[in-house]
Amino acid sequence: MSKVIVITGASSGIGEATAKLLAKRGDKLVLGARRETKLQQIVSDIEAAGGTAAYALTDVTDLASVKALAQTALDRFGRIDVWMNNAGFMPASEFIKGKVTDWNRMIDVNLRGVLYGIDAALATMRQQKSGHFINIASVAAHTVSPGGGVYSATKAGVWMISEALRQEEAAAKSNVRVTVVSPGAVATEFVDHVTDEGAKQALANYYAQTAISPKRIATSIAATIDLPADAAINEIVIRPTSQD
Ligand code: NDP
Repeated sequence: MSKVIVITGASSGIGEATAKLLAKRGDKLVLGARRETKLQQIVSDIEAAGGTAAYALTDVTDLASVKALAQTALDRFGRIDVWMNNAGFMPASEFIKGKVTDWNRMIDVNLRGVLYGIDAALATMRQQKSGHFINIASVAAHTVSPGGGVYSATKAGVWMISEALRQEEAAAKSNVRVTVVSPGAVATEFVDHVTDEGAKQALANYYAQTAISPKRIATSIAATIDLPADAAINEIVIRPTSQD
């Protein structure tokens, strides 16, 4: 059955690939991100392929903006079946570099952005007595390495928030499902946003050899959505087969 699916960070990478795959199956997509030309292009690609999509310019660090994204879904399609908290970035650097601005942005986008998404959609899902949060964490939620301390902290936070949400919704018998997706290296614009040149070069080399297509992540997300509503896949860890 066709679902109304909201995706943050839908203007590139995993968000874009997931939007396009789900639209091809007949789901109705509502896309949020900050770059309007990218969003317009993706909506027109989806419509050209026979799908249905809308977008709202969204900054996930701004609660009002995230609520406006939810309202766009309600105004256009009348419900929110799936909310995918996907916006995120990883400007890796060692602590000695003192990139405090990057640390704060990661906390704002990767962590607060997810909380704002939950706040924007949960009451609607409770009223509907159904819904599904898909929160994009990372393999870095489960491990940490030099330069990745703040990123791993935010993604471990996403994991913890998701598990608490799952437990609360289970106890409330709300029929709201929660899935955390923890990808390994995926070929997106991800590495472009690293501001430390040494870290960026090392990551670019690693990704050139290892990263998989974001379509792989999209396929696994579609599978979690398709599960009958009485069951939920609560976590997916998906890496390139060759990633150590
Ligand atoms: P991309 O850089 O391709 O996509 C990131 C998306 O987030 C863009 O659409 C960007 O859009 C959006 N975004 C960034 N900041 C904001 C903001 N303040 N408000 C709204 N949207 C924002 O990277 P990926 O597709 O790889 O990243 C998607 C998710 O996957 C992230 O959470 C990332 O941490 C996670 N991930 C990625 C991995 C990888 O190897 N690629 C591995 C593990 C996890 P715009 O600039 O238009 O706002």
